[in-house]
Amino acid sequence: MLALAGRRVLVVGLARSGVAAAKLLCREGAIVTATDGRKAAELGPAVEALLPLGVRFELGGHDEAAFTSAELIVVSPGVPLAGRELVAARAAGVPIIGEAELAATFIEEPVVGITGTNGKSTTTALIGHLLTAAGKRVFLGGNLGTPLSERVLAGGALDVTVAELSSFQLEAVETLRPHVAVVTNLSPDHLDRYPGPQDYYEAKRAIFRAQRESDFAVLNAGDPEVLALHRGALSKPVSFGHGAVELAGDDRAARDDGKRIVVRGVGGEEEELYERLSPALRGRHNRENAMAAILAARLCGAAPEAIRAGLASFGGLPHRLELVRTLRGTEWINDSKATNVDSVKVALAALPGPLVWIAGGLGKGAPYEPLRALLPGRVKAILTIGSDAQAIASALGDLAPATSCGTLDEAVRVAEGMALPGEAVLLSPACASFDQFRSYEHRGAAFRALVEALP
Ligand code: ADP
Repeated sequence: MLALAGRRVLVVGLARSGVAAAKLLCREGAIVTATDGRKAAELGPAVEALLPLGVRFELGGHDEAAFTSAELIVVSPGVPLAGRELVAARAAGVPIIGEAELAATFIEEPVVGITGTNGKSTTTALIGHLLTAAGKRVFLGGNLGTPLSERVLAGGALDVTVAELSSFQLEAVETLRPHVAVVTNLSPDHLDRYPGPQDYYEAKRAIFRAQRESDFAVLNAGDPEVLALHRGALSKPVSFGHGAVELAGDDRAARDDGKRIVVRGVGGEEEELYERLSPALRGRHNRENAMAAILAARLCGAAPEAIRAGLASFGGLPHRLELVRTLRGTEWINDSKATNVDSVKVALAALPGPLVWIAGGLGKGAPYEPLRALLPGRVKAILTIGSDAQAIASALGDLAPATSCGTLDEAVRVAEGMALPGEAVLLSPACASFDQFRSYEHRGAAFRALVEALP
């Protein structure tokens, strides 16, 4: 636990995690200043929540002196560490930690930490669900939902804290020590903030940094970057992957043969079988998330029977291959979270079709051609929306008829006239939403509302 009473601490960034960190610091008796590039009017409730606690504010910009004169700086994940003021503070010898690191110094129960490029949120939510099914008292949060500082503020005894950790959060952790660290997969991402993919992977390595020999690393055996990331770490590796049920040489592992998941070496002597997954876990990618979650739950002491029940009852997260409604035999599926081409790839691979596929929005400049192999025999029509409609039609329109619908409302109307019983309508945009919506959540909610209103 950090000694904070009477220390001058600067909190940088006043989104949810910054506000939670400031509250925790106040509780510990620190003298807290909070800074944000935005003005008080834009921050609204954040300032109102902290004013009564005696927090001082530097808003609408950053004062370098406030950084270099602090005794400790707590940064929010949205704030790049390479910023001028933070670089100056580091040069002046001021320790800089993230909100997750601050919180972790107070957390007494074992922590399961989850990171990776894709599947973090699903795996985090599933681990929480499996542990709850096993009767454990669980806090679920971090990058997904509630900041870890809120866990500390809430107090009380728990059995496990399950924390999704983004690469930005991991950049600023030192002592956070997950008893189980899960890495789902790694592929180039966030290249706006990192010079290259290796720098981004490197940030994620921090999930293993404080682990000891008695801790575990749950690793994707099919992803060489994930395996490489763990080299030199002290924790025991436990791998998951697709392939033969024969666990060649691996004495602690999970394997998926497409029908069942076989787990060995994480609890009893016997091999354990897991067969029934909820519809919210359809697709090969979700079977990977399920394997990672089973291993993490077993390593935290959940019993196989409880895990089996939890796998069957998992409701999934909204906007990720979420079944909104089955209407006259047609499934309407909201995959609004698929804001890039890779996510659409896993969505299409997860659904047998025939599909009426709604795509488009604000493109990210990546080519759509990598989807070509997945369309034949699966996508019977493409309905395009938003600014990248033409680009999608040009790249894929020879494989399935593409209709330009402009808006999501129109696409839903056209889809209703096209989809037959036994088919599905899939919103999986491959694009960001900002040309027509506030966020992917807003877009998914709009889709849900339109579909629920269908007669
Ligand atoms: P994250 O929190 O890492 O963004 P999510 O669980 O929210 O992950 O899933 C986001 C998207 O990533 C999903 O819509 C799906 O397209 C894709 N995805 C989920 N799990 C995996 C996985 N294990 N491998 C590859 N892609 C995945």
